[in-house]
Amino acid sequence: MVKTRFAPSPSGYLHIGGVRTALYAWLYARNQGGKFLLRIEDTDIERSSEESKLSILEGMKWLGLEHDEEIIHQSERFEVYKARADELISAGKAYESEGAIRFKSDRSSNVIISDHVFGDVEVNADELDDFIIMRSNGAPTYHFAVVIDDFESGITHVMRGDDHLKNTARHIQLMKAFDYPIPDFVHLPMILGPDGSRLSKRHGAMNVLHYKEEGFSSEALLNYLVRLGWSKGDQEIFSIQEMIDGFDLVGINKASAKFDIEKLRWVNQQHLLNTDDSELKMMLEARSDAAKGLNDEVTINFINAYKNRANTINDLVSSCDNLFSDEIKYDQASADKFLKKEILSPLKDVVDALKRSEWNQESISEALKSVCEKHEIGFGKIGQPIRIAVTGGTQSPSIDQTLILLDQLIVVDRIEAAIEYIVENSN
Ligand code: GLU
Repeated sequence: MVKTRFAPSPSGYLHIGGVRTALYAWLYARNQGGKFLLRIEDTDIERSSEESKLSILEGMKWLGLEHDEEIIHQSERFEVYKARADELISAGKAYESEGAIRFKSDRSSNVIISDHVFGDVEVNADELDDFIIMRSNGAPTYHFAVVIDDFESGITHVMRGDDHLKNTARHIQLMKAFDYPIPDFVHLPMILGPDGSRLSKRHGAMNVLHYKEEGFSSEALLNYLVRLGWSKGDQEIFSIQEMIDGFDLVGINKASAKFDIEKLRWVNQQHLLNTDDSELKMMLEARSDAAKGLNDEVTINFINAYKNRANTINDLVSSCDNLFSDEIKYDQASADKFLKKEILSPLKDVVDALKRSEWNQESISEALKSVCEKHEIGFGKIGQPIRIAVTGGTQSPSIDQTLILLDQLIVVDRIEAAIEYIVENSN
Protein backbone atom coordinates (compact mmCIF):
# COMPACT_ATOMS: atom_id res chain seq x y z
CA MET A 1 0.00 0.00 0.00
CA VAL A 2 1.24 3.47 -0.87
CA LYS A 3 2.13 5.51 2.22
CA THR A 4 3.29 9.08 2.04
CA ARG A 5 3.95 11.64 4.72
CA PHE A 6 4.34 15.31 5.34
CA ALA A 7 7.04 16.09 7.87
CA PRO A 8 7.14 19.78 8.79
CA SER A 9 9.51 21.20 11.37
CA PRO A 10 7.48 23.34 13.78
CA SER A 11 9.84 26.28 13.67
CA GLY A 12 7.56 28.60 11.72
CA TYR A 13 4.15 28.68 10.14
CA LEU A 14 2.83 26.45 7.37
CA HIS A 15 4.00 28.20 4.24
CA ILE A 16 3.06 27.98 0.60
CA GLY A 17 5.96 25.68 -0.31
CA GLY A 18 5.12 23.33 2.55
CA VAL A 19 1.49 23.25 1.54
CA ARG A 20 2.37 22.24 -1.98
CA THR A 21 4.56 19.39 -0.68
CA ALA A 22 1.80 18.28 1.70
CA LEU A 23 -0.78 18.51 -1.08
CA TYR A 24 1.16 16.33 -3.51
CA ALA A 25 1.83 13.72 -0.82
CA TRP A 26 -1.82 13.78 0.23
CA LEU A 27 -3.10 13.60 -3.36
CA TYR A 28 -0.83 10.74 -4.26
CA ALA A 29 -1.93 8.74 -1.22
CA ARG A 30 -5.61 9.46 -1.92
CA ASN A 31 -5.22 8.71 -5.61
CA GLN A 32 -3.62 5.37 -4.82
CA GLY A 33 -6.01 4.43 -2.03
CA GLY A 34 -3.05 4.64 0.33
CA LYS A 35 -2.30 6.50 3.53
CA PHE A 36 -1.00 9.95 4.28
CA LEU A 37 0.85 10.49 7.55
CA LEU A 38 1.75 13.62 9.42
CA ARG A 39 5.00 13.77 11.32
CA ILE A 40 6.17 16.70 13.38
CA GLU A 41 9.95 16.98 13.13
CA ASP A 42 10.54 18.66 16.45
CA THR A 43 13.95 17.34 17.38
CA ASP A 44 15.42 20.82 17.54
CA ILE A 45 14.04 21.82 20.93
CA GLU A 46 15.24 25.38 20.64
CA ARG A 47 13.74 26.16 17.27
CA SER A 48 10.50 24.20 17.70
CA SER A 49 7.47 25.72 19.34
CA GLU A 50 4.02 24.54 20.30
CA GLU A 51 2.58 27.69 18.76
CA SER A 52 4.12 26.87 15.41
CA LYS A 53 2.86 23.30 15.58
CA LEU A 54 -0.67 24.45 16.33
CA SER A 55 -0.56 26.92 13.49
CA ILE A 56 0.61 24.19 11.09
CA LEU A 57 -2.20 21.91 12.27
CA GLU A 58 -4.72 24.71 11.87
CA GLY A 59 -3.48 25.32 8.32
CA MET A 60 -3.72 21.64 7.44
CA LYS A 61 -7.22 21.52 8.86
CA TRP A 62 -8.38 24.55 6.92
CA LEU A 63 -6.99 23.03 3.74
CA GLY A 64 -8.71 19.73 4.44
CA LEU A 65 -5.48 17.76 4.10
CA GLU A 66 -6.54 15.27 6.71
CA HIS A 67 -3.98 12.69 7.78
CA ASP A 68 -4.32 9.02 8.62
CA GLU A 69 -3.04 7.42 11.82
CA GLU A 70 -1.71 9.26 14.85
CA ILE A 71 0.56 12.24 14.37
CA ILE A 72 4.15 11.21 15.03
CA HIS A 73 6.24 13.55 17.17
CA GLN A 74 9.95 12.98 16.84
CA SER A 75 10.54 14.57 20.23
CA GLU A 76 8.75 11.59 21.79
CA ARG A 77 11.01 9.07 20.10
CA PHE A 78 14.48 9.95 21.33
CA GLU A 79 14.87 6.54 22.97
CA VAL A 80 14.12 4.80 19.68
CA TYR A 81 16.79 6.80 17.88
CA LYS A 82 19.29 6.12 20.64
CA ALA A 83 18.59 2.37 20.45
CA ARG A 84 19.06 2.40 16.67
CA ALA A 85 22.29 4.33 17.01
CA ASP A 86 23.55 1.76 19.50
CA GLU A 87 22.73 -0.98 17.01
CA LEU A 88 24.87 0.75 14.42
CA ILE A 89 27.71 1.16 16.92
CA SER A 90 27.55 -2.55 17.82
CA ALA A 91 27.65 -3.42 14.13
CA GLY A 92 30.73 -1.24 13.69
CA LYS A 93 28.81 1.18 11.44
CA ALA A 94 28.87 4.17 13.77
CA TYR A 95 31.15 5.57 16.44
CA GLU A 96 31.27 8.22 19.14
CA SER A 97 33.30 11.37 18.79
CA GLU A 98 33.22 14.26 21.23
CA GLY A 99 29.96 13.04 22.73
CA ALA A 100 28.20 12.84 19.35
CA ILE A 101 27.61 9.71 17.33
CA ARG A 102 28.81 9.65 13.75
CA PHE A 103 27.85 7.34 10.95
CA LYS A 104 30.74 5.56 9.27
CA SER A 105 30.16 6.41 5.66
CA ASP A 106 30.81 3.85 2.98
CA ARG A 107 32.99 5.68 0.50
CA SER A 108 33.71 2.68 -1.71
CA SER A 109 31.18 3.65 -4.37
CA ASN A 110 29.06 6.55 -5.57
CA VAL A 111 25.44 6.71 -4.45
CA ILE A 112 22.70 6.82 -7.06
CA ILE A 113 19.41 8.40 -6.09
CA SER A 114 16.54 7.29 -8.34
CA ASP A 115 14.07 10.09 -8.25
CA HIS A 116 10.69 10.24 -9.95
CA VAL A 117 11.21 13.86 -10.90
CA PHE A 118 14.97 14.26 -11.31
CA GLY A 119 15.78 10.80 -12.66
CA ASP A 120 19.03 9.16 -11.54
CA VAL A 121 21.17 11.55 -9.57
CA GLU A 122 24.66 10.36 -8.74
CA VAL A 123 26.44 11.63 -5.66
CA ASN A 124 30.17 11.18 -5.65
CA ALA A 125 31.65 8.92 -2.96
CA ASP A 126 34.10 11.55 -1.84
CA GLU A 127 31.25 13.94 -1.05
CA LEU A 128 30.12 11.47 1.63
CA ASP A 129 31.41 12.19 5.09
CA ASP A 130 31.07 10.63 8.52
CA PHE A 131 28.07 12.72 9.42
CA ILE A 132 26.59 13.09 12.88
CA ILE A 133 23.50 10.99 13.60
CA MET A 134 23.09 11.74 17.33
CA ARG A 135 24.12 15.00 18.89
CA SER A 136 25.86 15.21 22.23
CA ASN A 137 22.61 16.49 23.77
CA GLY A 138 20.89 13.21 22.92
CA ALA A 139 18.88 14.52 19.98
CA PRO A 140 19.01 12.77 16.62
CA THR A 141 19.93 14.73 13.53
CA TYR A 142 17.37 15.19 10.76
CA HIS A 143 19.07 12.59 8.55
CA PHE A 144 18.94 9.90 11.19
CA ALA A 145 15.42 10.48 12.45
CA VAL A 146 13.93 10.79 8.97
CA VAL A 147 15.34 7.44 7.85
CA ILE A 148 14.22 5.57 10.95
CA ASP A 149 10.77 7.12 11.01
CA ASP A 150 10.10 6.64 7.32
CA PHE A 151 11.03 2.99 7.68
CA GLU A 152 9.17 2.35 10.91
CA SER A 153 5.99 3.93 9.62
CA GLY A 154 6.20 2.07 6.32
CA ILE A 155 6.59 5.08 4.03
CA THR A 156 6.75 3.91 0.41
CA HIS A 157 7.11 7.32 -1.25
CA VAL A 158 9.26 10.06 0.23
CA MET A 159 7.95 13.34 -1.20
CA ARG A 160 9.66 16.57 -0.18
CA GLY A 161 11.33 19.71 -1.46
CA ASP A 162 14.33 19.33 -3.74
CA ASP A 163 16.46 21.17 -1.19
CA HIS A 164 16.72 17.69 0.37
CA LEU A 165 17.78 15.91 -2.82
CA LYS A 166 21.47 15.87 -1.93
CA ASN A 167 20.72 14.76 1.66
CA THR A 168 19.13 11.67 0.19
CA ALA A 169 22.57 10.18 -0.51
CA ARG A 170 23.19 10.10 3.24
CA HIS A 171 19.76 8.65 3.82
CA ILE A 172 20.35 5.87 1.32
CA GLN A 173 23.61 5.01 3.04
CA LEU A 174 21.84 4.76 6.36
CA MET A 175 19.07 2.66 4.83
CA LYS A 176 21.65 0.24 3.49
CA ALA A 177 23.41 0.08 6.83
CA PHE A 178 20.11 -0.86 8.46
CA ASP A 179 19.10 -3.12 5.60
CA TYR A 180 15.94 -1.08 5.09
CA PRO A 181 14.19 -1.16 1.71
CA ILE A 182 14.84 1.98 -0.34
CA PRO A 183 11.58 3.91 -0.78
CA ASP A 184 10.61 5.80 -3.91
CA PHE A 185 11.84 9.38 -3.93
CA VAL A 186 9.87 12.29 -5.32
CA HIS A 187 11.71 15.57 -4.90
CA LEU A 188 9.66 18.62 -5.73
CA PRO A 189 11.23 21.66 -7.35
CA MET A 190 11.21 24.77 -5.23
CA ILE A 191 8.61 27.45 -5.61
CA LEU A 192 10.18 30.74 -6.64
CA GLY A 193 9.10 34.28 -5.98
CA PRO A 194 8.13 36.51 -8.91
CA ASP A 195 11.74 37.72 -9.13
CA GLY A 196 13.03 34.18 -9.66
CA SER A 197 14.68 33.77 -6.25
CA ARG A 198 13.49 31.19 -3.76
CA LEU A 199 10.06 32.12 -2.39
CA SER A 200 10.53 33.79 0.95
CA LYS A 201 8.96 36.17 3.40
CA ARG A 202 10.03 39.21 1.49
CA HIS A 203 7.80 38.13 -1.42
CA GLY A 204 4.81 38.72 0.81
CA ALA A 205 2.61 36.60 2.93
CA MET A 206 3.88 33.10 3.41
CA ASN A 207 1.62 31.82 6.16
CA VAL A 208 -1.12 29.86 4.49
CA LEU A 209 -3.65 31.15 7.03
CA HIS A 210 -3.11 34.63 5.64
CA TYR A 211 -4.83 33.50 2.44
CA LYS A 212 -7.76 32.31 4.49
CA GLU A 213 -8.06 35.74 6.07
CA GLU A 214 -7.80 37.37 2.67
CA GLY A 215 -10.88 35.47 1.54
CA PHE A 216 -9.35 32.80 -0.67
CA SER A 217 -11.02 29.41 -0.55
CA SER A 218 -8.92 26.44 0.46
CA GLU A 219 -10.05 24.55 -2.64
CA ALA A 220 -8.88 27.37 -4.90
CA LEU A 221 -5.55 27.66 -3.12
CA LEU A 222 -4.98 23.92 -3.49
CA ASN A 223 -6.04 24.11 -7.12
CA TYR A 224 -3.55 26.89 -7.73
CA LEU A 225 -0.79 24.97 -5.94
CA VAL A 226 -1.47 21.67 -7.67
CA ARG A 227 -0.84 23.38 -10.98
CA LEU A 228 2.31 25.03 -9.68
CA GLY A 229 4.60 22.22 -10.73
CA TRP A 230 2.20 19.63 -12.05
CA SER A 231 -0.03 19.45 -15.09
CA LYS A 232 -2.62 17.26 -16.72
CA GLY A 233 -3.22 18.35 -20.29
CA ASP A 234 -4.12 22.01 -20.17
CA GLN A 235 -6.76 21.80 -17.46
CA GLU A 236 -6.49 24.72 -15.04
CA ILE A 237 -9.53 24.42 -12.81
CA PHE A 238 -9.88 21.35 -10.63
CA SER A 239 -12.24 20.38 -7.86
CA ILE A 240 -10.63 18.47 -5.00
CA GLN A 241 -12.06 15.23 -6.37
CA GLU A 242 -10.66 15.97 -9.83
CA MET A 243 -7.25 16.60 -8.30
CA ILE A 244 -7.40 13.28 -6.47
CA ASP A 245 -8.57 11.40 -9.54
CA GLY A 246 -6.09 13.02 -11.89
CA PHE A 247 -2.94 13.30 -9.80
CA ASP A 248 0.09 11.32 -10.88
CA LEU A 249 3.85 11.49 -10.49
CA VAL A 250 4.64 11.72 -14.19
CA GLY A 251 2.90 15.08 -14.44
CA ILE A 252 5.30 16.72 -11.98
CA ASN A 253 7.58 19.24 -13.66
CA LYS A 254 11.27 19.35 -13.03
CA ALA A 255 11.51 23.10 -13.49
CA SER A 256 10.76 25.39 -10.57
CA ALA A 257 7.59 27.40 -10.81
CA LYS A 258 7.01 31.02 -9.89
CA PHE A 259 4.37 32.04 -7.40
CA ASP A 260 1.94 34.38 -9.13
CA ILE A 261 -0.65 36.04 -6.92
CA GLU A 262 -2.67 37.28 -9.92
CA LYS A 263 -3.08 33.75 -11.18
CA LEU A 264 -4.15 32.68 -7.70
CA ARG A 265 -6.78 35.43 -7.73
CA TRP A 266 -8.02 34.25 -11.09
CA VAL A 267 -8.24 30.63 -9.94
CA ASN A 268 -10.10 31.78 -6.84
CA GLN A 269 -12.55 33.70 -8.99
CA GLN A 270 -13.24 30.62 -11.10
CA HIS A 271 -14.05 28.69 -7.94
CA LEU A 272 -16.21 31.54 -6.71
CA LEU A 273 -18.16 31.50 -9.95
CA ASN A 274 -18.61 27.74 -9.61
CA THR A 275 -20.04 28.13 -6.11
CA ASP A 276 -23.82 27.96 -5.64
CA ASP A 277 -25.48 31.29 -4.92
CA SER A 278 -27.03 29.87 -1.78
CA GLU A 279 -23.59 28.94 -0.48
CA LEU A 280 -22.15 32.32 -1.42
CA LYS A 281 -25.05 33.88 0.45
CA MET A 282 -24.14 31.93 3.57
CA MET A 283 -20.49 32.86 3.24
CA LEU A 284 -21.41 36.50 2.76
CA GLU A 285 -23.78 36.60 5.71
CA ALA A 286 -21.15 35.01 7.92
CA ARG A 287 -18.73 37.83 7.12
CA SER A 288 -20.74 40.96 6.42
CA ASP A 289 -22.99 42.78 8.89
CA ALA A 290 -24.62 44.63 6.02
CA ALA A 291 -25.59 41.33 4.37
CA LYS A 292 -27.29 40.12 7.55
CA GLY A 293 -29.81 42.94 7.27
CA LEU A 294 -30.85 42.24 3.67
CA ASN A 295 -33.77 40.21 2.47
CA ASP A 296 -32.92 37.01 0.63
CA GLU A 297 -33.89 38.24 -2.80
CA VAL A 298 -31.73 41.35 -2.56
CA THR A 299 -28.77 39.31 -1.35
CA ILE A 300 -29.05 36.90 -4.25
CA ASN A 301 -29.46 39.77 -6.71
CA PHE A 302 -26.44 41.46 -5.19
CA ILE A 303 -24.38 38.28 -5.52
CA ASN A 304 -25.39 37.87 -9.14
CA ALA A 305 -24.63 41.47 -9.96
CA TYR A 306 -21.23 41.53 -8.23
CA LYS A 307 -19.67 38.06 -8.35
CA ASN A 308 -18.22 38.50 -11.82
CA ARG A 309 -16.06 41.31 -10.55
CA ALA A 310 -14.96 39.66 -7.29
CA ASN A 311 -11.79 37.58 -6.96
CA THR A 312 -12.39 36.57 -3.36
CA ILE A 313 -15.23 36.40 -0.92
CA ASN A 314 -13.66 39.40 0.82
CA ASP A 315 -14.17 41.43 -2.37
CA LEU A 316 -17.86 40.57 -2.24
CA VAL A 317 -18.01 41.44 1.45
CA SER A 318 -16.45 44.85 0.98
CA SER A 319 -18.71 45.65 -1.99
CA CYS A 320 -21.71 44.60 0.07
CA ASP A 321 -20.60 46.61 3.09
CA ASN A 322 -20.03 49.67 0.92
CA LEU A 323 -23.23 49.46 -1.04
CA PHE A 324 -25.51 48.79 1.90
CA SER A 325 -23.85 51.04 4.45
CA ASP A 326 -25.68 53.99 5.96
CA GLU A 327 -22.93 56.34 5.04
CA ILE A 328 -21.25 56.39 1.64
CA LYS A 329 -17.58 57.25 1.76
CA TYR A 330 -16.26 58.54 -1.54
CA ASP A 331 -13.04 57.30 -2.97
CA GLN A 332 -11.30 60.68 -3.02
CA ALA A 333 -9.55 60.39 -6.39
CA SER A 334 -12.79 59.31 -8.07
CA ALA A 335 -14.77 62.09 -6.41
CA ASP A 336 -12.18 64.67 -7.47
CA LYS A 337 -12.33 63.42 -11.01
CA PHE A 338 -16.07 62.98 -11.53
CA LEU A 339 -18.05 65.00 -8.99
CA LYS A 340 -17.69 68.31 -10.82
CA LYS A 341 -19.76 71.43 -11.26
CA GLU A 342 -20.65 70.79 -14.90
CA ILE A 343 -22.53 67.65 -13.92
CA LEU A 344 -24.73 69.44 -11.36
CA SER A 345 -27.59 70.24 -13.65
CA PRO A 346 -27.83 66.75 -15.22
CA LEU A 347 -27.62 65.20 -11.73
CA LYS A 348 -30.51 67.32 -10.51
CA ASP A 349 -32.55 66.09 -13.45
CA VAL A 350 -31.49 62.52 -12.63
CA VAL A 351 -32.94 63.00 -9.16
CA ASP A 352 -36.23 64.26 -10.59
CA ALA A 353 -36.40 61.51 -13.17
CA LEU A 354 -35.63 58.76 -10.65
CA LYS A 355 -38.17 60.09 -8.19
CA ARG A 356 -40.85 59.77 -10.87
CA SER A 357 -39.60 56.48 -12.25
CA GLU A 358 -41.01 53.10 -11.46
CA TRP A 359 -38.44 51.02 -9.62
CA ASN A 360 -37.32 48.41 -12.11
CA GLN A 361 -34.21 48.14 -14.27
CA GLU A 362 -35.92 49.09 -17.49
CA SER A 363 -37.59 52.21 -16.11
CA ILE A 364 -34.35 53.29 -14.43
CA SER A 365 -32.52 52.99 -17.77
CA GLU A 366 -35.26 54.95 -19.53
CA ALA A 367 -35.18 57.69 -16.90
CA LEU A 368 -31.43 58.10 -17.19
CA LYS A 369 -31.55 58.02 -20.97
CA SER A 370 -34.09 60.84 -21.03
CA VAL A 371 -31.78 63.01 -18.91
CA CYS A 372 -28.88 62.38 -21.29
CA GLU A 373 -31.04 63.28 -24.27
CA LYS A 374 -32.22 66.48 -22.66
CA HIS A 375 -28.63 67.59 -21.93
CA GLU A 376 -27.24 66.14 -25.14
CA ILE A 377 -24.57 64.21 -23.30
CA GLY A 378 -23.40 60.62 -23.54
CA PHE A 379 -24.34 58.15 -20.84
CA GLY A 380 -20.70 58.01 -19.74
CA LYS A 381 -20.96 61.60 -18.48
CA ILE A 382 -23.49 60.74 -15.79
CA GLY A 383 -22.65 57.06 -15.29
CA GLN A 384 -19.55 57.53 -13.16
CA PRO A 385 -20.90 60.42 -11.06
CA ILE A 386 -23.97 58.31 -10.24
CA ARG A 387 -21.80 55.32 -9.41
CA ILE A 388 -19.69 57.36 -7.04
CA ALA A 389 -22.78 58.95 -5.49
CA VAL A 390 -24.34 55.57 -4.86
CA THR A 391 -21.39 53.24 -4.14
CA GLY A 392 -18.53 55.58 -3.26
CA GLY A 393 -16.34 54.38 -6.12
CA THR A 394 -16.22 53.80 -9.86
CA GLN A 395 -16.33 50.00 -9.82
CA SER A 396 -19.76 48.47 -9.93
CA PRO A 397 -22.00 46.52 -12.29
CA SER A 398 -24.13 48.44 -14.81
CA ILE A 399 -25.92 51.44 -13.31
CA ASP A 400 -29.44 50.03 -13.57
CA GLN A 401 -28.26 46.70 -12.10
CA THR A 402 -26.60 48.54 -9.23
CA LEU A 403 -29.39 51.00 -8.44
CA ILE A 404 -32.09 48.35 -8.42
CA LEU A 405 -30.34 46.65 -5.50
CA LEU A 406 -31.18 49.65 -3.33
CA ASP A 407 -34.42 51.31 -2.32
CA GLN A 408 -35.54 54.13 -4.55
CA LEU A 409 -35.45 56.63 -1.66
CA ILE A 410 -31.92 55.67 -0.71
CA VAL A 411 -30.68 56.14 -4.27
CA VAL A 412 -32.34 59.55 -4.48
CA ASP A 413 -30.85 60.53 -1.10
CA ARG A 414 -27.40 59.50 -2.17
CA ILE A 415 -27.53 61.43 -5.41
CA GLU A 416 -28.82 64.48 -3.56
CA ALA A 417 -25.91 64.13 -1.14
CA ALA A 418 -23.52 64.07 -4.10
CA ILE A 419 -25.13 67.24 -5.44
CA GLU A 420 -24.53 68.91 -2.07
CA TYR A 421 -20.97 67.67 -2.08
CA ILE A 422 -20.37 69.22 -5.50
CA VAL A 423 -21.88 72.50 -4.42
CA GLU A 424 -19.71 72.61 -1.29
CA ASN A 425 -16.54 71.53 -3.01
CA SER A 426 -16.55 73.57 -6.20
CA ASN A 427 -16.41 77.29 -6.45
N1 GLU B 1 11.42 18.52 8.39
C1 GLU B 1 11.93 18.53 7.05
C2 GLU B 1 11.61 19.85 6.41
O1 GLU B 1 10.71 20.53 6.89
C3 GLU B 1 11.27 17.39 6.29
C4 GLU B 1 12.00 16.94 5.12
C5 GLU B 1 11.46 15.60 4.67
O2 GLU B 1 10.27 15.57 4.30
O3 GLU B 1 12.18 14.64 4.72
O4 GLU B 1 12.25 20.25 5.47
